[in-house]
Amino acid sequence: MVQTETKNKAVQSTRNASLTASPSMAVLQGIAPDGGLYILPSFDSISFDWEKTLSATTLEIAEMVLNALLPDYGKEAMHELVEKAYRNKFETDELTPLVRAGEKNILELFRGPTSAFKDVALSMLPQLVGRARVMNDQKEEIVILTATSGDTGKAALEGFHDVEGTKIIVFFPENGVSAIQKKQMTTQEGGNVYVCGINGNFDDAQTGVKEIFARVREEGLLEGKNAVLSSANSINIGRLCPQVVYYFKAYADLVRQGRIQKGEAVNFTVPTGNFGDILAGFFAMKMGLPVDKFICASNANNVLTDFFKTGTYDKNRPFHQTISPSMDILVSSNLERLLYLLSDGDTALVSSCMKDLNEKGKYTVPKALFDKMGEKFRAGFCDDKTCKETIRKTFEEDSYLADPHTAVAIHVAEEFDKSEGKGVQNVILSTASPYKFSAAVLEALGMEVPADEFEGMKLLEEKSGVKVPHGLATLQNKPILHRDVIEKNEMMAYVLSKISEK
Ligand SMILES: *Cc1c(COP(=O)(O)O)cnc(C)c1O
Repeated sequence: MVQTETKNKAVQSTRNASLTASPSMAVLQGIAPDGGLYILPSFDSISFDWEKTLSATTLEIAEMVLNALLPDYGKEAMHELVEKAYRNKFETDELTPLVRAGEKNILELFRGPTSAFKDVALSMLPQLVGRARVMNDQKEEIVILTATSGDTGKAALEGFHDVEGTKIIVFFPENGVSAIQKKQMTTQEGGNVYVCGINGNFDDAQTGVKEIFARVREEGLLEGKNAVLSSANSINIGRLCPQVVYYFKAYADLVRQGRIQKGEAVNFTVPTGNFGDILAGFFAMKMGLPVDKFICASNANNVLTDFFKTGTYDKNRPFHQTISPSMDILVSSNLERLLYLLSDGDTALVSSCMKDLNEKGKYTVPKALFDKMGEKFRAGFCDDKTCKETIRKTFEEDSYLADPHTAVAIHVAEEFDKSEGKGVQNVILSTASPYKFSAAVLEALGMEVPADEFEGMKLLEEKSGVKVPHGLATLQNKPILHRDVIEKNEMMAYVLSKISEK
């Protein structure tokens, strides 16, 4: 009896059912020992009364969701961790307001300390890691390795700087992030932080990080160094679980606003890169939330659009640098978890797909799985030209200033609503402040783009009447503290040298 209970509380690798860990150990490890991703074997085993979220505050929903998904922390501890992570840390303790722009429902996820939706998860993750370290009596230093397409890096640095017992190393594509994003990261203070550009794109950075995990494991490179690796990317379940919260929150808001009746299904349109955000929505649905469709929105890097249309995932294609850089991704890591869930935990199938992806850069899912994808998912994409038109149109018609990532989702949502989605409330996830991408937004509005990005922010503020977030406004006068730039094959050596530094 006791044994079954412990077993039910464990998570396992997407590639091997016998590789299990407690949720808190999975948070510490970041990735399973076989390179798979930790996942709940089945959502049937968790008890969650989703209707209680309808009358709860966002912080209460966070506690409920995290207790259900990460039960070994315990309710009392989770209460404390949620309070520490979120109370007075965002522009509002509502965390993620649902606003109306014309007829659209926009879920604003960027009201946190670094003005990106990653703050929602990365405010919580350091709390979960810190507590897991104590619970599991881990004495070694935890080294958080992070590959970023721009936003994860800063949000993770903000969350982990000066957290006892941790170091954080962030790799970003030297020429693949916006000027503001780069400045946010390279000005980061803290005695335990390292920020490093690589000559390559985000996929190179992410692949590099995965390789470091694999080599450290296989070659025991950290033995005797009193350090273990973990991840702040959405491969870590501790990063994914906090994102489930705002799906319930948005739904509760729609009920409160009288836009839907309790129980009525809604759609969510999600601007997608690594497939973490949208997967969190799928988790929410598995926990009871009434969802009709998830609409996966991509930019010109439309590998996911093709996957949902054809069942073949093929990363062998040109990489496009776009004005929505956080979605310039050709290998969406979290798709692996969706394959696991939709195949009812077929670890052999997941392993073989991932092997094909690794060796041939592509895989095709069986027909039965493809049909299941079609039950809940739709996908669309939007190139830079259409994205800019959407920013302009949304500003002129709805008086709403959208960032390029959000605009991608707005366009894809509009296309969907015109056809299949008629009559169903569609929640568009808004993932960044427009001020993080002021050059692209100014251009979209037909305005002059000054060479100085802070000048650009000011122009945008005058035009829109929306205030520049504090964290971005104060960036201008901060000194650059990190100047490292390396080749992608130097990442391993970089990590080892930083681990040895005191
Ligand atoms: C990370 C990010 C995304 C994509 O989220 P995934 O979880 O990787 O799908 C979208 N927009 C912005 C602004 C982001 O920072």
